[in-house]
Amino acid sequence: MEFELEKFKTQGVKVNYYYVCKRKLWLFSKGIAMEDTSDRVLSGKLVHEDSYQRKDKEVLIDDIIKLDILDKDYVREVKISSKLTEPDRMQLYYYLFYLKQIGINKKGSINYVKEKKIEEVELTSEIEDMIIHTLIDIKKITYDSNPPKLKILPYCRKCAYYEFCFVKEDDE
Ligand code: SF4
Repeated sequence: MEFELEKFKTQGVKVNYYYVCKRKLWLFSKGIAMEDTSDRVLSGKLVHEDSYQRKDKEVLIDDIIKLDILDKDYVREVKISSKLTEPDRMQLYYYLFYLKQIGINKKGSINYVKEKKIEEVELTSEIEDMIIHTLIDIKKITYDSNPPKLKILPYCRKCAYYEFCFVKEDDE
């Protein structure tokens, strides 16, 4: 299936947020920055430099996707914990999909530092279709002038946008 990557490409974090919370994706896409330490911990992005020397190895592709590590066969992502495995996995699938679209075939691995476990992932045609659907939907959501309706999720209290969502909703 021909897919116009140029039209739908986005940052990996947006794919991650799409699977965490579509409202969070919208808020982030509008530049509403409320990220704090607790949220970065929740989304697994904060990894202590002592536990993994990621900074030196980060690879930026097309000024839009930032890979923790790219080696001969793998894209390797590093996450602090496996609290949100689906968003982490989908973000990595997106990276594999993106690379494939530009002619680079890789497998993926996620290193969960806290649990000391490594998960391996590989693209399939079903996953590619899911990524295409996700990218189309991300575009739709982020172009909308209103945020998706508030849905209470188990991790809302730990989300950087908690006050924004709940204070605002209480006022309505
Ligand atoms: S507080 Fe809950 S509903 Fe609001 S953006 Fe965060 S996860 Fe989504």
